[in-house]
Amino acid sequence: MQMISENYIDGRFQPVSGDEQAPLFNPATEEQIGIVGLSNATDVDAAVAAAKRAFPVMAHSTVAERIAMLRRLADVVAAHGDAMASAMGQEYGAPTYFIDYSARRAGSVFLDMANVLESYAWQRRIGAAEVEMRPIGVAAAITPWNSNFGFICAKLATAIAAGTSIVIKPSEMSALQTHVLLQALDRADLPAGALNIVNGSGAVAGAALTAHRDIAKISFTGSTGTGRAILHAAAERMARVTLELGGKGAQIILDDADLGAAAAQALTSGFINSGQACIAGTRILVPARLKGALQDCLIAALAHWPVGPASDPASRIGPMVSQKQWDRVQSYIRLGRNEGAILLAGGEGRPMGLDRGWFVRPTLFTDVDNSMRIAREEIFGPLLSIIAYQGEADAIRIANDSDYGLQNYLLGTDPDRLKRVARQLDSGRVVINGAAHEPLAPFGGVKQSGIGREFGSFGLNAFLEPRTVLA
Ligand code: NAD
Repeated sequence: MQMISENYIDGRFQPVSGDEQAPLFNPATEEQIGIVGLSNATDVDAAVAAAKRAFPVMAHSTVAERIAMLRRLADVVAAHGDAMASAMGQEYGAPTYFIDYSARRAGSVFLDMANVLESYAWQRRIGAAEVEMRPIGVAAAITPWNSNFGFICAKLATAIAAGTSIVIKPSEMSALQTHVLLQALDRADLPAGALNIVNGSGAVAGAALTAHRDIAKISFTGSTGTGRAILHAAAERMARVTLELGGKGAQIILDDADLGAAAAQALTSGFINSGQACIAGTRILVPARLKGALQDCLIAALAHWPVGPASDPASRIGPMVSQKQWDRVQSYIRLGRNEGAILLAGGEGRPMGLDRGWFVRPTLFTDVDNSMRIAREEIFGPLLSIIAYQGEADAIRIANDSDYGLQNYLLGTDPDRLKRVARQLDSGRVVINGAAHEPLAPFGGVKQSGIGREFGSFGLNAFLEPRTVLA
């Protein structure tokens, strides 16, 4: 059993002074694997003070020095890939394919940011004005459990690139992964206080960090409800925020799509991270006359999504992260039935042969109406809703009829038509036919999926403030 009782403050590991603790579990076995000490406001104050001392050091560093820091960070994280992958398997039970995708690639964001710095325009002339991009001040990041390495690395990379210092509060459910990642980050020789990480709960450490008067910028990734609380807290002192929140993505299957390929892709986009992803495409929109044929293809494609623990390389769907999340998914399966949706596959209870672990059955509901709660609320599990539409305009209307607007998907064959439909979708990003992630392109949502963008130069801008000098 691992005891994690240290924060990383001022360039070294320091004991947590808060006396609360939280258990850590392996969700595939339900066994307790560790305990994490939870920070209180005193720990947060110490971390912010260290970041404040480091701010001038970072702000006065040269671009070349920051590129060197980012490259070192990429190297040390890459060197810890095996340890990170193993921690992710234990703490999330995520399937191997997803661990390979996320744990082993997490450090590449440092190189992406180094590339942005190579050509970033810090001074700009606009008519008679000289515009200088300046670091925004001490930053805070609060991250969710579902992609711990990715979010910590992305927010740290952006802060370093911008020439600022940062205090990060990761999810308390990811303490083991954070601990392993810190062993790597500690070796990057950043200026003391440039990076500070405090373990703690949202209610105590997260709230203390959000409300801290020395924090100028909060970069938050997590649920829409928490994002709203953070926005309220930030409003008190006009702290800048970037909010990356929930999603309820639509996958529009156009009538010219190859249904077999579309079904396979729809499950890939719907079941990413066992459905525990903000970008999951959880509403599958199909032309009414093709519904039966698509359903047959989806059922056939489900055979490629076996459920099981991370230790089994064949697993493609792992457990839910916690008992709470397992209960939540079960309650949505019951709700779907009660709302009148038809269960096509899966359902309540555990998959056959998996008596322990927070595993759920991959579930497809059909005859779903977009007004049902299963089509409107973020569930965060492998539960997909099939919704029939009458014509392209109807598909676009249904896709856009959502409080969320993070990432939608299009499947079809005519490139001009796909682009035309994409331009009518109300989301921060649209993915056509499973296109690969583009690491420097802006990422973020519209409506209640968030405020602002991350990654590349758009992400960097959000950690800077322009100063205009008129002469
Ligand atoms: P969450 O909102 O419960 O927690 C996120 C973080 O906020 C955690 O570190 C938590 O401790 C902290 N927190 C909770 N209450 C707080 C408060 N009052 N003040 C300050 N901090 C607080 O989310 P989660 O369950 O960890 O993650 C899942 C959610 O994150 C989903 O809604 C998912 O869609 C969203 N998400 C969004 C993106 C994106 O890029 N848009 C990416 C991943 C996850």
